[in-house]
Amino acid sequence: MKIESLDLPDEIKRFYENSGILELYPPQAEAVEKGLLEGKNLLAAIPTASGKTLLAELAMLKSILAGGKALYIVPLRALASEKFRRFQEFSELGIRVGISTGDYDRRDEGLGINDIIVATSEKTDSLLRNETAWMQEISVVVADEVHLIDSPDRGPTLEVTLAKLRRMNPSCQILALSATVGNADELAAWLDAGLVLSEWRPTDLMEGVFFNGTFYCKDKEKPVYKPTKDEAINLVLDTIKEGGQCLVFESSRKNCMGFAKKAASAVKKTLSAEDREALAGIANEIMENSETDVSSVLEACVLSGTAFHHAGLTTPLRELVESGFREGRIKLISSTPTLAAGLNLPARRVVIRSYRRYSSDAGMQPIPVLEYKQMAGRAGRPRLDPYGEAVLLAKSYEEFVFLFEKYIEAGAEDIWSKLGTENALRTHVLSTISNGFARTREELMDFLEATFFAFQYSNFGLSVVVDECLNFLRQEEMLEKDSDALVSTVFGKLVSKLYIDPLSAALIAKGLREAGTFTELTLLHLICSTPDMRLMYMRSQDYQDINDYVMAHADEFSKVPNPFNIAEYEWFLSEVKTSLLLMDWIHEKPENEICLKFGIGEGDIHATADIAEWIMHVTAQLARLLDLKGAKEAAELEKRIRYGAAPELMDLLDIRSVGRVRARKLYEAGFKSTADLARASPEQVATLVGPKIAEKVFKQIGRKETVPESSDIESLEKGFPE
Ligand code: ADP
Repeated sequence: MKIESLDLPDEIKRFYENSGILELYPPQAEAVEKGLLEGKNLLAAIPTASGKTLLAELAMLKSILAGGKALYIVPLRALASEKFRRFQEFSELGIRVGISTGDYDRRDEGLGINDIIVATSEKTDSLLRNETAWMQEISVVVADEVHLIDSPDRGPTLEVTLAKLRRMNPSCQILALSATVGNADELAAWLDAGLVLSEWRPTDLMEGVFFNGTFYCKDKEKPVYKPTKDEAINLVLDTIKEGGQCLVFESSRKNCMGFAKKAASAVKKTLSAEDREALAGIANEIMENSETDVSSVLEACVLSGTAFHHAGLTTPLRELVESGFREGRIKLISSTPTLAAGLNLPARRVVIRSYRRYSSDAGMQPIPVLEYKQMAGRAGRPRLDPYGEAVLLAKSYEEFVFLFEKYIEAGAEDIWSKLGTENALRTHVLSTISNGFARTREELMDFLEATFFAFQYSNFGLSVVVDECLNFLRQEEMLEKDSDALVSTVFGKLVSKLYIDPLSAALIAKGLREAGTFTELTLLHLICSTPDMRLMYMRSQDYQDINDYVMAHADEFSKVPNPFNIAEYEWFLSEVKTSLLLMDWIHEKPENEICLKFGIGEGDIHATADIAEWIMHVTAQLARLLDLKGAKEAAELEKRIRYGAAPELMDLLDIRSVGRVRARKLYEAGFKSTADLARASPEQVATLVGPKIAEKVFKQIGRKETVPESSDIESLEKGFPE
């Protein structure tokens, strides 16, 4: 089916033709036949890189040019940025694009001027809770990676959000994009959607198992080049020799880094002079962005053409690795599966080194087929590679047979709603009532009827859990107690708008009521004791230190559990460990020191601080509403967590482009506030923070001085008195 023949305005057709897309891929053509451009609901369950985004684009553009508005829901912030960048290309069609991933209690009304809004499912849920007006104008909703309904963390929010959007805008078109799952027909039926189900890919994918020096696929086998004794490294070198790049998936961060290091010397020998030069540039940027031990290892790897990628790296470092790979300079990335879920980063060959993953209840377990497919699907760059190869490694014949049967020959599993527990449902029950979607228990059940859970299991299972949630919400005074109708209290409304789990809010309110004094530790531990916080694991070497710390500071905790109650005490210790990480962060301990002390990556510090900042914000808001002590202290800590610094730096840190390290340098040199900077000489400031930043600082505080060039600064620095 030609783009030219589609029922679309000419300008859209020209846009695609100019970018080289003249004809639809077969699954795309099927979607058009099933009503994509006529506003019909559709579920496209097709492999990665087979053109799902293009489907969404056609539906969105058609609707927008007819006066509508599109919402594109993604599971991860990184994906939101990727899609946002792509959709910005529509500016030449006069289409405006916005992205919403920020604070949860904001309405972001300003975003309403856009035609396409990209948001995570959590942010979409929070926009609904905050009654953002433009949401009523949405004419197309795209739910990307909708198979994540199966995820206990993200699934419930996604399905409730879709149910709410459909209730609010019954005529709105739903376009759900999914990996291939076992029960796609069930998911489509839930959404009243036509189904496009296909295994078609633009680039052939050879899936198979490597055993005893040979790569066995379904209908082919292929010997692999053997320059070293390590089979995985040979698989990498084999790909590079053929002009491709390799993605290697590992089960742990440690293994990821280990493999990139191990493969470095062999990969380095394959690099051209241009590669080396480009890689030196990337390595330089890595060191400009981070000064931890891990980034030094990454720098050394990148100089050799390899890299590792996992959630312990900060976003700028991950982006440097991704772009170095896209440009073809980095030949190998070894990664945890997060990369497969989050980014469109294809490679000629994907090697899955470990197909097992640790689960706390069952030990090491084989990963689901769906997850394997996500990784395997990264193999083969459309238009660049003649084919893609996904390789599993077997050490024995039995393992070879097992891997072949489980991953290559069998289909993906069914997905299941995870909404049916009190923990998952509590927050959605409150927001549904608070937003006026339900005013009686019957209306609430009727609303929940529209969820995937009710569709899969029947409403009966939900009824019991709903009553548990209602009892909890009444008991905690988030719902009126003396009313048969469902009415949220002012407290309940705020909890819903702040987008916090009602259990967290109840724990915070209780903690604030009961605390005598508010030390930093009291408040940090209070937020770490809520279910919204992401806690750090306890390593065996942590027990003694954290336990000693608890003994020395026992009076600062609202309650210290009995150490003989082992499970509860261990949980408490991990809350304390997380509080201590935040404590180091707000006391300006260098990031590398924190990483080494807690056995984490820089990315973890920022992720933990992000969540902590939000829960501290909630704490300040709740304290204010309930007229409890601690509001001022919590608001101050919220800001300190945002910047990772002591109170005296807050004024300087309000200047954009001044981070905690630069702020400390300025402060120690006597520039303690923006007022001091207003009087400072450009040379002095440039010496401390560099000329580029100095210029930005001056601009922000409204000064127009020119800052000396860096060469002048160097000479100035040399001549500076000790
Ligand atoms: P998915 O979202 O399924 O992973 P994308 O929509 O991102 O896949 O498509 C992958 C690549 O294929 C993109 O670079 C896109 O521009 C290109 N593409 C999509 N559809 C077509 C088509 N019909 N013809 C040529 N290229 C296409």
